[in-house]
Amino acid sequence: MAEIVLDGISKRYADGTEALARTDLTIHDGEFFILVGPSGCGKSTLLNIIVGLEQPSGGDIRVDGEPVTGRDPRHRNMAMVFQSYAIYPHMTVRENIAFPLKLAKLPRNEIDSRVRQAADMLELDALLERKPAELSGGQRQRVAMGRAIVRKPVAFLLDEPLSNLDAKLRVQMRSVLSRLQKRLGTTTVYVTHDQTEAMTLGQRIAVLRGGRIQQVGTPYALYRQPANLFVAGFVGSPAMNFLPAEVRGDRLVLPMTEIALPSGLRTQIGGHTGTLIAGIRPEHFAVPGSPEEGGSLSSGFEVKVEMVEWLGSDLYAHFDIAAGNAAQLQALPRELDLSPVREGCLRLVARLEASAGVSTGATQPLCFDANRICLFDPQTGRRLGASAQVCE
Ligand code: ADP
Repeated sequence: MAEIVLDGISKRYADGTEALARTDLTIHDGEFFILVGPSGCGKSTLLNIIVGLEQPSGGDIRVDGEPVTGRDPRHRNMAMVFQSYAIYPHMTVRENIAFPLKLAKLPRNEIDSRVRQAADMLELDALLERKPAELSGGQRQRVAMGRAIVRKPVAFLLDEPLSNLDAKLRVQMRSVLSRLQKRLGTTTVYVTHDQTEAMTLGQRIAVLRGGRIQQVGTPYALYRQPANLFVAGFVGSPAMNFLPAEVRGDRLVLPMTEIALPSGLRTQIGGHTGTLIAGIRPEHFAVPGSPEEGGSLSSGFEVKVEMVEWLGSDLYAHFDIAAGNAAQLQALPRELDLSPVREGCLRLVARLEASAGVSTGATQPLCFDANRICLFDPQTGRRLGASAQVCE
């Protein structure tokens, strides 16, 4: 078990690519920690630096207070599991799991006992004499995990371990991993590009973008208090809706309606004036008068539903709003990809109860929970009221 401290770690590859800007991060002892972000944001680089497969260009790594920068991976006692299971096809499950212990020349009875324990935890007991070709993808990934567990490493480093599995297996394996990590209590650093995986598995999550950490926090904090537009748009599915907003006195004017500013937001806005960006999550819309409504609802407004996606328990209603003037739209950061679907319009999505009976082409009254709105500075992208530390 180990606390892993990254102190000013950076990485520039030989061709000049800056994969990681100066990064400070502490991963607590026993924590299930997630590195998440889009492809190319530096997740694998960071993981490889922790395990020692890559050397940082600057900074130090400490494991339980001991400097390990420059130390060979073999002498860090961390176990890595990859997306490609990297198990030996000619060996049985038992031999694959036992392999690192044989290399380490452990006594026979110790090897047997550790393999039995790992097989029990991973429900591989009945498969120990099989070869990998006779296993499903999920079972192979469990063998790879078994081989990592028996080493009793100070940390597990997992690089997109579930990406090769189909959706149903991924969900199953998520709960296997989560249970296993709780039982073992071993510090785990897990890389994924999938925000759902990150949110369901992580005790804490670091969101990366372009080699920079955008925010570190619990899944709840990332969802409720995103540091900036990027995190707000990355976490949650469907993604948060963004639209221009303007503060006028104690009111917030949105393209489709205006609301009295809830006191929490008023504090966050402080002295900000002019156009802001408002973020409303799809699940914070409601049909006025519906049983699900709660919180502090805005007054109703009508939209024309352009498309409905049924999901069984709920539905996604896509609708367009006239998004103010062109100048306001232009003021919104390009990265939001808020290209209007029609001249001067933005497409938004509301997640509603299936029983709301919303249909394509209908004129639909909607409202939203004013307390749940996020407001962002269009220049910096930072959420108003976000603490400075989370966003460096
Ligand atoms: P992720 O795991 O988030 O997809 P990586 O850590 O693999 O991202 O890569 C981060 C950035 O560094 C990317 O721009 C990638 O192209 C670049 N990169 C990764 N490995 C090398 C390398 N060996 N040489 C040069 N650039 C690299």
